[in-house]
Amino acid sequence: MPEGDTIFRAARTLHRALATRLVTGFESVYPALTRVDVDTPLAGRQVESVGARGKHLLMVFTGDLILRTHMRMHGSWHLYRPGERWRRPGREMRIVLSTDVFLAVGFNIPDAEFLDHAGLARHRQLDALGPDLLDPQFDWWEARRRLRAHPDEAIADVLLNQRVVAGIGNVFKSEILFAAGVHPLTHVRALSDETLERILTIAVKQLRANVTPRDRTLAPAAGRRTTGSLHPSQGLWDYDRAGEPCRACGTPITLEKAGLDARLTYWCGQCQGTRQGVGEPGNGDRGTGNR
Ligand SMILES: [Zn+2]
Repeated sequence: MPEGDTIFRAARTLHRALATRLVTGFESVYPALTRVDVDTPLAGRQVESVGARGKHLLMVFTGDLILRTHMRMHGSWHLYRPGERWRRPGREMRIVLSTDVFLAVGFNIPDAEFLDHAGLARHRQLDALGPDLLDPQFDWWEARRRLRAHPDEAIADVLLNQRVVAGIGNVFKSEILFAAGVHPLTHVRALSDETLERILTIAVKQLRANVTPRDRTLAPAAGRRTTGSLHPSQGLWDYDRAGEPCRACGTPITLEKAGLDARLTYWCGQCQGTRQGVGEPGNGDRGTGNR
């Protein structure tokens, strides 16, 4: 599943390319979308803005029309010049939005719909989203309250729950908990307020650090970094590094399929404590150093 920073960057890149452009055409394999285009054509409208809300991408058009898309596991948006060769097979195309200068092509996007502003305001999925870690007005108090509402779940699972906080996917889940020195299977109940604050602070810092560089690609995980290292093979603490030595202490990184969806979870048994008593308060306070 793309992480919040991927969606944010995709939205920003699409916004720069498309905002104020006149739409010249629309295509989709989804009849529900093409029906709207037939009834109230996209062509002739202007793109007002493209933005991210959690992991939802919102393209706003003049005339009270919004295209909401969600990438789920494999979806992506690409930008092309007219006539440019696509980097994915045509059969994966789900949506094409044409302007005079750019084509935005949505590949493998499983979740897409048109809404008006009233529909957006009462949208259940969007409404249910937790505070967005990439929002400059990130609501710390509300995020902590929502974390606390899942006392008997592993912190790794709760961080992935977009109704708690919006923006964390599987990569950042492992990276944030490493930097916080917290074992991923620790139940929220066992974590102190101070530790939750630290986890959220690191989450905000890691996600924001991955959207600030000028970034022209929409590809997931492009150059994602959490360690501060600029070396391409040293950008992450423990994600996808099973069996490799921990960058802090040398202990081989542990990998386990954990949680409801058996998601891959990585951790260092030394730096992130043990699963003891599913995590005593303060368990996460060891070995964090100045990372
Ligand atoms: Zn370690």
